[in-house]
Amino acid sequence: MAQKYELRQMNQPKPNPFDNALEQLRIAAEYLKLDEGLHQMLASPKRQLTVSLPVKMDNGSIHVFTGYRVQYNDARGPFKGGIRYHPNVSLDEVKALSAWMTWKTSVANIPYGGAKGGIICDPKHMSQGELERMTRRYAAAIAPLIGPYKDIPAPDVYTNAQIMAWIVDTYSTLEGYMTPGVVTGKPISLGGSLGRDKATGRGAVFCTVEAAKVNKIDLKKATFAVQGYGNAGSFFAEILQTYGAKMMGASDSRGAIASKTPMDADKLIAYKAKTGSVVGFPGSQPISDKELLQMDVDILSPAALENSILPDTAKGIKAKIITECANGPTTPESDKILHANKVFMIPDILANSGGVIVSYLEWVQNLERIGWSEAEVNDMLEKKITGAFHDVHAASLKHGTDMRTAAMIVGVGRVAEAVKTLGTFP
Ligand code: GLU
Repeated sequence: MAQKYELRQMNQPKPNPFDNALEQLRIAAEYLKLDEGLHQMLASPKRQLTVSLPVKMDNGSIHVFTGYRVQYNDARGPFKGGIRYHPNVSLDEVKALSAWMTWKTSVANIPYGGAKGGIICDPKHMSQGELERMTRRYAAAIAPLIGPYKDIPAPDVYTNAQIMAWIVDTYSTLEGYMTPGVVTGKPISLGGSLGRDKATGRGAVFCTVEAAKVNKIDLKKATFAVQGYGNAGSFFAEILQTYGAKMMGASDSRGAIASKTPMDADKLIAYKAKTGSVVGFPGSQPISDKELLQMDVDILSPAALENSILPDTAKGIKAKIITECANGPTTPESDKILHANKVFMIPDILANSGGVIVSYLEWVQNLERIGWSEAEVNDMLEKKITGAFHDVHAASLKHGTDMRTAAMIVGVGRVAEAVKTLGTFP
């Protein structure tokens, strides 16, 4: 008899990410003096879909995966947000991520709402064929809800351009015509945008450059560490070092490393591509995850998952700037500690918005049948995200708040205005 596909559960992170998201919203609602009804509307996802996905595994058995798509709010435009493949995906995680997408597209001032999707699975232990069949079944299951004018998925943790290609093909087959604008983060050959692959990291660097100016930090002399050397984190490192900053520590799901001499970001990308991990990089020493987050560096980027900076870790953080390439790495409790310790926070909904900004540019190119050069895309990204940084920084000065609260005031404020102006149906 065929062996059952075993799902390897990892340690569940402690705080519920949706509780964290609601607490951040509550703080912003107070500053914005939102009335209770409007606050409740913004605290409730518009639509939540759970799907069961029977997939034929390579050994002939059937495994039924669970997937989600949460459409949080579309007052400012079609729903937008990535799809995550991870063993710890849960409905509450997807709800939190969809709320953060809503505030993120609003802070970036692009005409989208927010959504997120996920499948509980362990992609590192699945073959390409299994991943393709699972992806196509998921695409078919959510097809009635998505579309270029309804909801536009994109990559997130452990999903990539190839997975987007399978979604385009499945959706287009069902629709009966080629619809590249249904997802972003596609391969270039299918209408993907130049610059999309590095956009999250690049946008985070543009924010860090502005934060360094505000805090009078010379990037040529600055040091940094990255938790999570994946798509966002590794390109953040690669681009930040072109400004002269030096990487002293890094990590991935297999472990963390530090070095007394700066590590070359490109060499570390190549090493990880070859060996599967940053661990063992020549000249580095293994350290714990907590030691990495508390390294004596100027800039720290949590670029992995939610809840990586819990209060106990936050207390010992020495970095002057935190650039959140990940979504939701810092809990509300940790935010208070970091603010009291005068750490300058570039919050996720600002810091990692470069990904969705270039997703927007990709979507515009698809709908308009045009193509921009990589230099044009990077230039538009820089203008958009630098503008967003200064909107948020101005709000933090005006209200006397930390940068997360300021970003929430800007992001939630615009969504609240749109929701209020639309009125309540019926
Ligand atoms: N998954 C990315 C994020 O969290 C990108 C979303 C998108 O491009 O739609 O922002």
